[in-house]
Amino acid sequence: MTQASAESPTDSTVYKTLLESTKAIPWQIDWKTLRFTYIGPQIEALLGWSPASWETVEDWAARMHLDDRERVVNFCVAQSQAGTDHEADYRALTKDGAHVWIRDVVHVVRNDAGEVESLIGFMFDISERKQTEQKVLALQKELESLSFKDGLTGVSNRRMFDAILEAEWDEARRTGQPLSVILIDIDYFKQYNDCYGHIQGDACLRQVAQALAAAAARERDGFARIGGEEFALILPATDAAAAMNVAERCTSLVFKEQIPHAASAAGALLTISLGVGSAVPAHGDAAIDFIAEVDQRLYQAKQRGRNCIVGGA
Ligand code: GH3
Ligand code: MG
Ligand code: MG
Repeated sequence: MTQASAESPTDSTVYKTLLESTKAIPWQIDWKTLRFTYIGPQIEALLGWSPASWETVEDWAARMHLDDRERVVNFCVAQSQAGTDHEADYRALTKDGAHVWIRDVVHVVRNDAGEVESLIGFMFDISERKQTEQKVLALQKELESLSFKDGLTGVSNRRMFDAILEAEWDEARRTGQPLSVILIDIDYFKQYNDCYGHIQGDACLRQVAQALAAAAARERDGFARIGGEEFALILPATDAAAAMNVAERCTSLVFKEQIPHAASAAGALLTISLGVGSAVPAHGDAAIDFIAEVDQRLYQAKQRGRNCIVGGA
């Protein structure tokens, strides 16, 4: 039995069979003429275009999503001219007008003189992978938005409050406009839980959050649940007098809910205490010190018997 040489017809038949039975679609382009010298017949099953219809690189570029075309063609041409192997992801157009995500992996073949002679490559169908990627991205986005949201009430959480405060503090320093913050704490809420149970306590927190959210009337006003039964409003470009008005609106919004609280020493209905502060931050002033002052006012409101507002310039 004689050994088949590397160039024997048997070998090339084997290679051809192998190439044409893989899922990856092989192709070859002559660099001088920019014409396809080969494309695997599998291309027709994937995109609907017959192998014979792939004549030049123009056909390849034309059968690409418009949003991908310029980026991918420029990239592939530059890489090929530089003689660098490369790969590109793009949406290939199918004969019936749909798109399939393709990863094209390209090898640059040089002649003995080192000049680029041809490009050979494989096209992979990566549409499933792209779908998964997009699902993961959507989930990540959702997670990001959830991580700024309070799970119980659906309003912004402490993290969001900190982020908005930081941004608005810088903005107020930049513009010289007053920034106001209102800290709100439900009165005798421990007793509310003791009296009505935790489940109703949770429902009450949702109701109060809903009611108070309406106090953030301007687009840039921020509202968040910053603790168990504590809420906060961030009011950009709002002075002390205007902030006091918003605080009074908060009190009346909660009053309008008419939530019975039989165990409260402040009245028959659920009430809140509020601390209000306004500042035009100067260079070197820290938001955290400002919040501590407003918190001090909230504490004073509790000291004064609750169901009241402590604020002022
Ligand atoms: P004060 O009038 O001085 O504000 O008294 P308080 O009872 O409202 O305040 P305190 O800080 O003593 O208690 C707050 C209570 O809020 C304790 C806790 O059981 C309740 N609480 C905190 N988070 C939640 C929650 O997510 N759900 C429920 N149901 N209760 C909560
Ligand atoms: Mg509290
Ligand atoms: Mg409380």
